[in-house]
Amino acid sequence: MKTKDDLSRILHRIDRRGYKAYKEIHGDYQFNDFTLIIDHVQGDPFADPSRVRVRVDQSLAGFPADTYHAKSREIGLRDYLTRQFHRAIKRVTQRQRRGTGKSGLIEIDLPGQEILLRTSCLINDRFVEVRFKAGLPAAGRSILGRQAVTMFLHELPEIVAKSLFYGNLDRQSMYRHIEANEEQDTLREMLKPNKLVAFVADGACLPRLSGVDDQPLEKGAVLFRSPESLAHSLTLPNGGKVSGMGIPEGVTLIVGGGYHGKSTLLDALQRSVYNHIPGDGRELCVTVEDAVKIRAEDGRNIERVDISPFIGNLPYGKDTTSFSTPSASGSTSQAANIIEMLEVGATALFIDEDTSATNFMIRDRRMQLLVTKDKEPITPLIDKIRLLYSERGVSSVLVMGGSGDYFDVADTVIAMDEYIPKEVTSEARRIVMEVETERSAEGGESFGTVRDRVPIAASIDASRGKRDIKINVFGTREIGFGSYKIDLSAFEQLVSVSQVRAVADALIYARENYVNGQRCLREIVELLERDFAVKGLDVLSRRFLGHYALPRKLEVAAALNRLQSLRIEFKDYRA
Ligand code: ADP
Ligand code: MG
Repeated sequence: MKTKDDLSRILHRIDRRGYKAYKEIHGDYQFNDFTLIIDHVQGDPFADPSRVRVRVDQSLAGFPADTYHAKSREIGLRDYLTRQFHRAIKRVTQRQRRGTGKSGLIEIDLPGQEILLRTSCLINDRFVEVRFKAGLPAAGRSILGRQAVTMFLHELPEIVAKSLFYGNLDRQSMYRHIEANEEQDTLREMLKPNKLVAFVADGACLPRLSGVDDQPLEKGAVLFRSPESLAHSLTLPNGGKVSGMGIPEGVTLIVGGGYHGKSTLLDALQRSVYNHIPGDGRELCVTVEDAVKIRAEDGRNIERVDISPFIGNLPYGKDTTSFSTPSASGSTSQAANIIEMLEVGATALFIDEDTSATNFMIRDRRMQLLVTKDKEPITPLIDKIRLLYSERGVSSVLVMGGSGDYFDVADTVIAMDEYIPKEVTSEARRIVMEVETERSAEGGESFGTVRDRVPIAASIDASRGKRDIKINVFGTREIGFGSYKIDLSAFEQLVSVSQVRAVADALIYARENYVNGQRCLREIVELLERDFAVKGLDVLSRRFLGHYALPRKLEVAAALNRLQSLRIEFKDYRA
């Protein structure tokens, strides 16, 4: 193998030459206590920076088995080391940039508040590996070889030393991170046996700094306190106990005056399908893993979804058992969002009145009298929500400050009062007895069918111009997929751009491996989920990319369902 001195010699030799000469540094180099692997060299100083890996032999890195031998711990450690590497980059490369474009930049995919399975760092009994990007220095298009020497031979070893050796890390904060991840996984596993859909620990800090900053609100945050009647005490893996509020399975309403913290609670619940870092405020809050936030999304495209449980007899006899539209209304989009997620195995729905279509949520007595059922295509959620639970076992948590009609169908009612929850189920029941809504039920005997849909491979086409696959990811809001855009802005549980990259590439991977005109979408996303769990996210690419984070199968399905070119057939599956 070449050594760091070989790299230094090459860099000095190509100093001041044209940028393309950098191609020569592609390859592996032995340093004193790690290997540098340059996988891909960028074509010019403005291009995406070069892709690089560092591997430290485990005999030198020295991570004890208990930091990574259990899956939860491994994921926690990989996340922690990614953050430490990022921190070390900041410390070591504070100096000004050294040249054109991304010259001198060293960057690793930075996680947010969640701990996710990611490809930025890998660990096993043989080595620790980090994957990152390096902007090769240039002035204009001319190579700054000496600066590259500083970057690779001085800064990088310092960054690696600070972040990838067990002996150099803060053991306490490392174990806290690893154990926090394990605790949340364990707590989440305890939900089902306790018949809960979510757990919010006493003392949790739920409000965020702002709508665009997911860090905890520091000043003036009222910490969470469970009402006595919903309190649960759960045992952590280390033997400690945590007390907090359990949200039972079934139908739960969150009521309360405006500004009293209803949406903040629901947001925390919907985010707690993921684990959070210590200090986040939600690091002892967990939600069942296949819970999904549902909202209205007018304007979205829908491809052959059976929305008949919610919407029937449209004007002019338009079919709703296989409903397609390039641009759905608020209520139709919300109905399709629910059905599509049920189709791929969602077990709980979270719905906020703030982001719902009113006519999808309720139809009160007076409206039932004025517009009779035969003239109203929509069966509101209120008439289906119990059936969802009794027939399909799907729980729901609804923020509903505006309609007490829902008291009729709720198992649990939680009132937010100055950010503190109180259980008011019995008061709500009493009101139900005293004040009738006089609504007539419109939901029928059964929820209706959720059909399996079979995607057609040719319709999952990311080609554009001369390229077979052209994918662009714009934050968590949008994927450019060939000549189409996939709008994900209303899908609130994608928390990181790295997840979106994985989702986009998962669509291609699914098309190549699993979409065969026979398998339904549910089977396809389950196969993906299994591959990610067993083989990791590297199945998505052979290029050792460090910028993936794990999405759930629900997010993959949500993206595919929003691809405008998607075509669906209904077929019986044959194994
Ligand atoms: P609602 O949905 O009931 O109208 P929100 O959840 O939107 O209320 O909360 C209103 C405001 O109160 C938000 O700015 C939010 O950040 C803040 N807030 C929510 N919960 C807390 C809390 N526990 N402590 C401090 N501020 C909070
Ligand atoms: Mg609200």
